[in-house]
Amino acid sequence: MELYTPEALISEEEIALRIAALGAAITKDFEDEEIVVICVLKGAFMFCSDLIKKINRPLSLDFISLSSYGDSTHSSGNVKLDMDITANIEGKNVVIVEDIVDSGLTIKTLMEILSVRKPKTIKLASLLFKPTKLQHKVTIDYLGFEIEDKFVIGYGLDYAGRYRELPYIGILNAGN
Ligand code: 5GP
Repeated sequence: MELYTPEALISEEEIALRIAALGAAITKDFEDEEIVVICVLKGAFMFCSDLIKKINRPLSLDFISLSSYGDSTHSSGNVKLDMDITANIEGKNVVIVEDIVDSGLTIKTLMEILSVRKPKTIKLASLLFKPTKLQHKVTIDYLGFEIEDKFVIGYGLDYAGRYRELPYIGILNAGN
């Protein structure tokens, strides 16, 4: 079987450096406070796993799963809650860890779902942000990289379930 190596947009080294800075910022912002980290599956699993290693604060980890894209590279405009967290977040400091903010619909929906549960604070860490596609008001408190409007894969992000294992962020080429 022929191996396919997508063109790199952000290298492993660049990702590691940026995540160290984000972890340091979160550590500073939550001095003496506990954090509930909510990893948005599946795309953020790799980012979240590397990020929490750089947060030097007591934290607990939970997972949530939402879907909007299906197997296409265009948003369906619908967000479905596939799997909920198990933690009670009332009165807690929540940090959502997301892979990418595109139109902002997924995060807007997630913020609505979580804020009615009365957390003390909700912050958002997103590895990537495509500003050209934004349609909803979203504040990213801890941003990895702003990128242009290309469909990216790797480092947890997929196309039709593939490429999540790539250690870097690549651009999906037409025809691959
Ligand atoms: P939004 O709701 O902000 O439009 O889209 C967010 C979700 O769409 C992300 O969590 C991710 O699953 C998917 N998405 C948006 N852009 C890309 C992209 O360039 N590559 C991949 N793999 N997923 C994307």
